[in-house]
Amino acid sequence: KKLPLDRSEEPGVRQVKGACFSRVQPQPLTNPRLVAVSQEALALLGLNGDEVTEDPLAPDYLSGSKVMPGSEPAAHCYCGHQFGHFAGQLGDGAACYLGEVRVPPNQDPNILHENPSGRWEIQVKGAGLTPYSRQADGRKVLRSSIREFLCSEAMYFLHVPTTRAGSVVTSDSKVVRDVYYSGHPQHERCSVVLRIAPTFLRFGSFEIFKQADEFSGRQGPSYGYDELRGQMLDYVIETFYPEIQQQYPDRVERNVSFFREVMRRTARLVAQWQCVGFCHGVLNTDNMSILGLTLDYGPYGFMDRFDPEFICNASDNSGRYSYQAQPAICRWNLVKLAEALDPELPPDRAKAVMEEYLDLYNSCYLDNMRRKLGLLKKQEPEDEILITELLQTMHNTGADFTNTFRSLSHISCPSEGESETEEELVRDAANLLLEQCASLEELKAANKPTMDPRELAMLLSMAQSNPALFQMISDRMTIARQLSRLNKLKELMETNEEEIKTKQTEEWTSWITRYRKRLAQELEGNTDVQAVQEERVRVMDSTNPRVVLRNYIAQNAIEAAESGDFSEVRRVLKVLEKPFSSQPGLEVPAWVGQGGATQQGERD
Ligand code: AMP
Ligand code: MG
Ligand code: MG
Repeated sequence: KKLPLDRSEEPGVRQVKGACFSRVQPQPLTNPRLVAVSQEALALLGLNGDEVTEDPLAPDYLSGSKVMPGSEPAAHCYCGHQFGHFAGQLGDGAACYLGEVRVPPNQDPNILHENPSGRWEIQVKGAGLTPYSRQADGRKVLRSSIREFLCSEAMYFLHVPTTRAGSVVTSDSKVVRDVYYSGHPQHERCSVVLRIAPTFLRFGSFEIFKQADEFSGRQGPSYGYDELRGQMLDYVIETFYPEIQQQYPDRVERNVSFFREVMRRTARLVAQWQCVGFCHGVLNTDNMSILGLTLDYGPYGFMDRFDPEFICNASDNSGRYSYQAQPAICRWNLVKLAEALDPELPPDRAKAVMEEYLDLYNSCYLDNMRRKLGLLKKQEPEDEILITELLQTMHNTGADFTNTFRSLSHISCPSEGESETEEELVRDAANLLLEQCASLEELKAANKPTMDPRELAMLLSMAQSNPALFQMISDRMTIARQLSRLNKLKELMETNEEEIKTKQTEEWTSWITRYRKRLAQELEGNTDVQAVQEERVRVMDSTNPRVVLRNYIAQNAIEAAESGDFSEVRRVLKVLEKPFSSQPGLEVPAWVGQGGATQQGERD
């Protein structure tokens, strides 16, 4: 069922015509060695992590330095829209497909439900040049590899759909990177992540057929793009959506149903991201999985203090891929997929499917948020307002996203036999939440405009004198954001620490009071208060993680690994494998407000 490989071309960077895959050979590393393995991910392939760790040949095979018999390494040709603009041919510039591994017998039957193909695609990421490497070298360094490895696995254990990572290998091969935070070019160790997924096909895998002519000026039909599009669509639906294939004998109906399912999975995925405070950072269409998985971990970030405008990608000046933009961006990306599937997917049918997106996203988000707040028994229309007010309170008080939600299970439903008065209970709860709110200095820092003040002043005067020009400034969003920060900062300058504390306390007591009123409704018609409370805590503590991969946690592990100590990467993985557990021994340092928007390891 594989698409034809392009065997005719010479190796080297090039436009690849009329094919979706090119044969490549991964480039061997000098002295490859294991940094860490994910036992659970390797088990998908029928491998035992302990045996792999002991095996002297494992680093060779896990990094593509040696290739298994029968493997036909290939790089995939795709294209995509980057930052809203069509970017032409992209393709696997650093990743190399090695082949597929059959799901071993005796595995959890749910695996086949999640991956009906019965096979796992395996890829080595960072394995060297491919025809799609463009000006880059096809290598990845330790920083970016550890970030991809840890977060792939962290997301899986948070129950967020994702591609997996089986191992990370580093080596004595070096590449030069402009490490922008140090300002100097540095020699860094080539490192390789073994990635695992049912498939790595993405929206961009389909865009290549529609857009091939546009970027190359070639005649579409003579290269058989319509035929290739049909083949790839058949392959994807038959292999990964077999129920849809079986249910719809009519091709158009089948394709519409497929697109609806991709839309649903994408809406559900982005709702889950929002609910764990995850920001992907580069939601280009080539990073959108055709299976609704989180794909390509680069400058991603988990939010610390809640900020809807959180941007984790240092080169995303306009905030296109900010936290709050993600649902709308994923919608935009789905529209691009629909355009790429035309005429297999009639545009009017695609449009109708897209009209379902917002309601579906909202209902996934609300369901998830209700569990995070422990609102289980009834669905009240005001719940949406309560959630919005919680987020607003978090934002105003500089509250930590993860810790706030995790603390909410300490607030109980009001009941008859309470030993403290309502006021005392609310005050205790408020004190708990206030512990992880920002100080005045931290609030000031959080609201500091990121743009140079002179540059901001210049843009503003330009905008005032010439509205047409203002329209053309692509950073309009940035200006609005900078201005609102500036105003907030002005307010903060005129206040003091005590006033801030008072204001924060008022905000939290007022929200907690409303929350407790709503919680009273959880008990209606139920006499066993304790049972209701226990169920709430169980659901909340299995929905609100105690630990996520905060930037500083990844950074600590990276710095240790760069100096040759891989134990922190392994320890952090162990912690992230149980994100909901309060088990002792799995501690991470308390969140003390480090970090910022820049993800030091983001550039690969
Ligand atoms: P990304 O923004 O990570 O989705 O990557 C965009 C494009 O750049 C894709 O075609 C990647 O394969 C390619 N790319 C990323 N990193 C490298 C690298 N180190 N060497 C070659 N190509 C790369
Ligand atoms: Mg990518
Ligand atoms: Mg990438």
